[in-house]
Amino acid sequence: MTITNPRDLPKIDEFIGDECFAEAIETFGYMPTIKTARAVIDEARSTLLNQGECNATCHPSTKETPLTCELLTQRVLERLARDAKPGIRPVINATGVILHTNLGRAPFSKKVADAVYEVASTYSSLEYDFEQKSRGHRNTHVEKLLCELLNVEAAIVVNNNAAGVMLVLSTLARDREVIVSRGELVEIGGSFRIPEIMEESRAILRGVGTTNRTHLHDYERVLTDETAALLRVHTSNFRLIGFTKSVSTKELANLAHEHDLPLIYDLGSGCLSPQLAALLTDEPTVASAIEDGVDVICFSGDKLLGGPQAGIIVGKERYISAMREHPLLRAFRCDKMTLVALEYTLRLYFDDEMARRHVPILSMALVEPEELKRRTELFADKLRMHDIQATVEPSSMVMGGGTAPELYLESWACVIDPALHKGAPSPSVIDSNLRASSRPVICRLIQDRLFFDLRTVRCDEEDLLIDNLLHAMKTESRS
Ligand SMILES: *Cc1c(COP(=O)(O)O)cnc(C)c1O
Repeated sequence: MTITNPRDLPKIDEFIGDECFAEAIETFGYMPTIKTARAVIDEARSTLLNQGECNATCHPSTKETPLTCELLTQRVLERLARDAKPGIRPVINATGVILHTNLGRAPFSKKVADAVYEVASTYSSLEYDFEQKSRGHRNTHVEKLLCELLNVEAAIVVNNNAAGVMLVLSTLARDREVIVSRGELVEIGGSFRIPEIMEESRAILRGVGTTNRTHLHDYERVLTDETAALLRVHTSNFRLIGFTKSVSTKELANLAHEHDLPLIYDLGSGCLSPQLAALLTDEPTVASAIEDGVDVICFSGDKLLGGPQAGIIVGKERYISAMREHPLLRAFRCDKMTLVALEYTLRLYFDDEMARRHVPILSMALVEPEELKRRTELFADKLRMHDIQATVEPSSMVMGGGTAPELYLESWACVIDPALHKGAPSPSVIDSNLRASSRPVICRLIQDRLFFDLRTVRCDEEDLLIDNLLHAMKTESRS
């Protein structure tokens, strides 16, 4: 029955009592369902009232779907489903960018994800010492592993690398000077800026050299009793080329040690894999920084290490022990899920081959181009079976996550040109349909063609990707 008069709108209790809402109430809860139903009925009421006024003065609108109880029900169910969509949900990353900052940086392997689930879904030994039957410290588990793995005296773990740098500077250099090359006063993105972090930690920045050239004597000249430390910052997502000069890490370490000062190195990416280091030629590794004599090294858990978001500080006990007592450590401490993920990820690194197989960012980065090409060809074959014309073309890949900004490595992409498909929506509509899928697909749209790089797509996501693509190419905008 078409409803034309606001008085004919259903009463909320009767409306929601209908059995077609039973499942919705079970899934979304009674309160959200009734709230949504109320909103839909209220909106329908205002529309009817407006139309009433409008009909008196202007032509009645003709083309509207007649308002019925069924239509109201449908609107409520659709809105409930839309609102219940989680904000953070899995996506298929077909961009080929391995450490995509907007897509959650490093994905976990099933092994690591399972471990997190196991520990997070019940009680755990997070801060329990079995031998002493007393309180332990949440960080000891990972810190022991880091010392063993990297052959360092001490380690400490916080929420992210920004917090790590902050803790190091606050502990070692509060109200004292820290010498940094002007070529390393960088902004990393996400508002991490070296001068600002230093200001927050109350370390006094002593910039030396120029943007492009810094010499050892630049550091030597400003060393005084006020100096607390020398700081080196990896310029991560930015490179200087041409007439440049910087001091080697080893020389800096020697200079610091001659004055009994620590050299701090904000390494950023934290590459632990020799195989990955060989691929990303100009990314410094944690091992090389240790070898060069750096006293305190900070790096991220979720960049080239491939673990959870975390800030890892390793180095000499004499500097790190004070950080354990610092009140900021309590503010920056990690959650158990992070610590479990980090522990399991670190354990994999005791064997290069195991790390390569089970740390997803390593598997993705180190896959042989020929193997990726074969996989992409099989994928294109499957698409052709569904009448989608797909070609396999050479492409390039970047690591992302602010690492190796100049490095483009050989890769392969499956390419679709919507113009070759009669009746298909425009490239940008297909692209937005893909992003609107229940498992959103993020690909690259270049000159009206869609590029899918399978390097960052899990094998078990391929079929879903194909389903989503078929759907995206059939429908007009799904908005
Ligand atoms: C990425 C990065 C940071 C910030 O690390 P988060 O873990 O994202 O907080 C700090 N310093 C450098 C050099 C970086 O590359």
